[in-house]
Amino acid sequence: MRKHLVLAGGGHAHLTTILRIPEFVARGHRVTVISPEPYHYYSGMGPGMLSGTYTPQEARLHIRRMVQDRGGLYLEDAVDRVFPDQQVLRLASGTEIPYDVVSFNVGSSVPLGDADLACPNILPVKPVVNLHRVRRMVLSSEYGDSPHIVVVGGGPAGVEVAANSRTLLDRAGGKGQVTLVAGTKLLKDHPAAVGKHAAASLLKRGTRLLQGVRMVSSTPTRLLLSDGSSLPYDLILVAVGVHPPSLFRDSGMHTDTAGGLVVNEHLQSVQYPEIFGGGDCVSLKGSPISRVGVHAVRQNPVLFQNLMSSLEGWKLESFKVNPVYLLIMNMGEGTGIAWRRNFVWAGRSAFFLKDIIDRRFMRRFQVSGELEEPI
Ligand SMILES: Cc1cc2nc3c(=O)[nH]c(=O)nc-3n(C[C@H](O)[C@H](O)[C@H](O)COP(=O)(O)OP(=O)(O)OC[C@H]3O[C@@H](n4cnc5c(N)ncnc54)[C@H](O)[C@@H]3O)c2cc1C
Repeated sequence: MRKHLVLAGGGHAHLTTILRIPEFVARGHRVTVISPEPYHYYSGMGPGMLSGTYTPQEARLHIRRMVQDRGGLYLEDAVDRVFPDQQVLRLASGTEIPYDVVSFNVGSSVPLGDADLACPNILPVKPVVNLHRVRRMVLSSEYGDSPHIVVVGGGPAGVEVAANSRTLLDRAGGKGQVTLVAGTKLLKDHPAAVGKHAAASLLKRGTRLLQGVRMVSSTPTRLLLSDGSSLPYDLILVAVGVHPPSLFRDSGMHTDTAGGLVVNEHLQSVQYPEIFGGGDCVSLKGSPISRVGVHAVRQNPVLFQNLMSSLEGWKLESFKVNPVYLLIMNMGEGTGIAWRRNFVWAGRSAFFLKDIIDRRFMRRFQVSGELEEPI
């Protein structure tokens, strides 16, 4: 029987399913993909896009074309509410979309806390396209030739964004200052050697590193810190971690404390068998995993298989969490810091490997002429 599969979000975990839309269509099913933006920017290349190591074309996937070229229906909109008992999604535009099976890959966002949300020069590092916007703002001399960029957040994203902000300023003539406000301690949840390499790399290139202080709030010109001091700024980039959207909680669905949709080992809602999901917006029951892109990428084949199985009445596959993975930070100027469990190394070879992995990943999904597009 002809069924309707809806994919909410064109993020990292849905890419295989989108690529293989023709297989759903060949079996008589309809596929609709809902995404607020036609492009999906790959976070692994985001910091490199900020410094100019990658062009936006190299770092993004044309989700709209990928869907339309494969026989799916693309809707530029956002899911605003789920009515799971009626099997209906309400979109931001007010349109209602019925589904037989739905999968969510709507990602996460950065909480801005008490930062001045109305201020145009305070930007979260997600969506990743913000990093391209920042590059353009800095290069347009909007902040003069000597801007002060403050990055808030001492995790891997904050470190990469600070390092690549420095590279951006260096490549633009070397003027300007980057300050990283790292919270309690730089990279505190990672092996100590990673923090040491990162601090050394940042300080060597002139980035100011503040540890033991947090952002409290901001005025249009100053960032207020937890020790009572304040910093002048031209631009603030906030990288204080991520949380899932309030969509599932607002829809009365079963979530974890952060608001992530609770799914079982089949990446299937524990409440509604026709609802699936992957990436940062879900929480795996019994196996909490960190919100990193590696897991979203690894979920691709299982999510594809289980969406097909759910439509066809086949047996579902299990997603096996592998807590071991390689993380590599792009530290700018062709250098990186890599670690897998407690094995840590830094230098040019680390970035070289990251670049190979990221470009290979993009090659699999850049099937819509992305590299030939104008910016
Ligand atoms: C600067 C930076 C660097 C990072 N580097 C790495 C790295 O090197 N390695 C790593 O493993 N992780 C990295 N991460 C973490 C990684 O970005 C996330 O874990 C990853 O993006 C999760 O993928 P996702 O598909 O779940 O979400 P996202 O990538 O956020 O994608 C979600 C998609 O859903 C769409 N969407 C949002 N809301 C709605 C809605 N209501 N309706 C429909 N669609 C919607 C969005 O437009 C987006 O396209 C990095 C993060 C940052 C910020």
